[in-house]
Amino acid sequence: MPHPSSNLSKERTLIIIKPDAVQRNLIGEIIKRYEQAGLKLIAIKMMVPSAKHVETHYTLDPNWRKVTGEKTIKSYKDKGIKPHSEDPYEITAIILEKLKDYFISGPIIPMVWQGAHAVKIVRKLTGGTEPLTTDVGTIRGDFVHDSYQMADTDKRAVRNLAHASGSVEEAEMEIKHWFRPEEIVNYRLIQESILYDTDLEGILETKEKKVPGKKKKN
Ligand code: GDP
Ligand code: MG
Repeated sequence: MPHPSSNLSKERTLIIIKPDAVQRNLIGEIIKRYEQAGLKLIAIKMMVPSAKHVETHYTLDPNWRKVTGEKTIKSYKDKGIKPHSEDPYEITAIILEKLKDYFISGPIIPMVWQGAHAVKIVRKLTGGTEPLTTDVGTIRGDFVHDSYQMADTDKRAVRNLAHASGSVEEAEMEIKHWFRPEEIVNYRLIQESILYDTDLEGILETKEKKVPGKKKKN
């Protein structure tokens, strides 16, 4: 039976298993974590993207350059390190070049996952951008230990295993960027009954079906 929050349970998010996760045999482990949380996989493929496709992905949000640059400057200052520039755009231009090199270095696996609060749940399971400082129990916290300091010293992107959309709006733009509509499969999973349905009739084989208005005989 449809439930009042049925639109919420259709929220979608984009995840990309990055080249380092593929090389470290973490594909199954990463997918398992989203699956176990009750989310539904509705699109998946393996590919090697072009540098242009990666650049467009990161700049779909016109604020990304500014926000990411400011975030990077702040993370340096919080650690008492002087950033190499005070201009967020200059910082992001370098990060973007490194991200392109990283993403085209080997196969990646873009995926679309669906479920209630999919964007927030996936961000929580994936962890914060920097593996060094993110929580244990998250994908980035459990399986890698890279840091901004390591990445910047070696002039490369932070290797943090997976990309996950940051908001519902970002997710919708990113899904369109990586998947054609026909690559996304709309289907129902049996488990959605126990996750979302309001009426849980039918689990117990012995239970009599409720007839509205009919009193139960003793
Ligand atoms: P995410 O949403 O947690 O992946 O983080 P962002 O969208 O802010 O950044 C995109 C990607 O850029 C991250 O996953 C990192 O690989 C890289 N990145 C972000 N901030 C920094 C930084 O301060 N230094 C370096 N080297 N890479 C960064
Ligand atoms: Mg992001």
